[in-house]
Amino acid sequence: MRDSVQSTIERKALSGERLTPDEVVFLLTDADLHWLGGLAHEIRMKLHGDRTYVVANRHINYTNICQNRCLFCSFSADATDDDAYFLQPDEIVESLKADGVQDVREFHIVGAIPPRELADYGYYRGILTTLREAFLEVQLKAFTAVEVAWMAELSGMSVRDTLLDLKDAGLDAMPGGGAEVFADEVRLQICPDKISGDEWLAVHRTAHELGIPTNATMLYGHVETPKQKAEHLLQLYDLQDETGGFQAFIPLAYHPVGNRLGGEFTTGVEDLRHVAASRVALHKFPHIKAYWVEYGLKLAQVMLLWGADDVDGTVVYERIYHAAGATAPKGVTISELAGIIRGAGLKPIMRDALYRDMREYEPVDEDAQEV
Ligand code: SF4
Repeated sequence: MRDSVQSTIERKALSGERLTPDEVVFLLTDADLHWLGGLAHEIRMKLHGDRTYVVANRHINYTNICQNRCLFCSFSADATDDDAYFLQPDEIVESLKADGVQDVREFHIVGAIPPRELADYGYYRGILTTLREAFLEVQLKAFTAVEVAWMAELSGMSVRDTLLDLKDAGLDAMPGGGAEVFADEVRLQICPDKISGDEWLAVHRTAHELGIPTNATMLYGHVETPKQKAEHLLQLYDLQDETGGFQAFIPLAYHPVGNRLGGEFTTGVEDLRHVAASRVALHKFPHIKAYWVEYGLKLAQVMLLWGADDVDGTVVYERIYHAAGATAPKGVTISELAGIIRGAGLKPIMRDALYRDMREYEPVDEDAQEV
């Protein structure tokens, strides 16, 4: 029985056919782990060969002050908390200049949802225009669908007009956060004040229609069921089938420290299964990331042979996962990331936020590329 399900999935995934919810549940639960990893790797090799992507980037989290206070979130704070912070665009630029951004290709910009008295729409637009002016060459991958929906509310514009205006201000691409698990029952338990799954998908559909590429995520390992995760993955698959606007999918392992939800860390086996299952179920997504900050460098390296083709980037000041108990370093060098890629027998390819202008990482550049 297991063999016949596996061979059906294999045939469908390799010929570009949509899996059923039951087949995705099977990948997430009962499928033989070695078979699953092998199939995920086969799909990854078919798409990319040994090319494995890495970006010199910086994470910018402009504030942690949030009015939503999702139960799973360890990053957010109330304005009166000791650890609350709020950065003006000029302060962000000053600190980037002080640290140096030589060779950086991408700013990954996400924050919390501060009350309207603290930040109006002009604040968010100002982050983009100020960064664009100060760092002409660096691509701006900014604002989750949750932030964009909030900005539309602040500005009084539609989501479409808000995105058009943000694009005009310098937005190149959008990250994939805020998706969590789309099912209403899950959102009610872990993030009741966040936009719905349908709203998240609608923002991304609009972005794709406007030529803004985006990423997608799924936060797993909390209260969700395999069926809810399968439905989440297939809703993403369907949107990708419709628009082709997603660049990468990033499975996000829930971390239980410092929040109101509590629970357990996921295991390495669960993490491998989720990365590999994502690669098989989302065979229309160009890239699957093994985000080393959540998994650590060693497990992320193994994932490169289990369906992932991208380790993300140098990051430098990661705040969100570290607030939730991550033990990986807060930032690494390009040469370290290239080292784990080569250690897996693969080829490190330097990319930008849009997966353009790619070139193989050259060790001779090592000193210049230390970040
Ligand atoms: S996940 Fe985002 S919206 Fe939710 S509390 Fe954290 S920062 Fe706020």
